[in-house]
Amino acid sequence: MSLFEKAGRKFEETKRSFTGGDDAEGDPEYVCRSCEKPVSEDYDHCPHCGDAAVEPVE
Ligand SMILES: [Zn+2]
Repeated sequence: MSLFEKAGRKFEETKRSFTGGDDAEGDPEYVCRSCEKPVSEDYDHCPHCGDAAVEPVE
């Protein structure tokens, strides 16, 4: 494996760690208007602060 392939694979892993899980950091589709944190789904209530302030990112 070349150095570039190795770096590319590492980047893919880093990218996956951002997009996976509960936190949708990186490319959030929704955001909480109350605490201004990214949310991965269109929750009724924000998983971070509990407010019903989740909106789609424009
Ligand atoms: Zn919130």
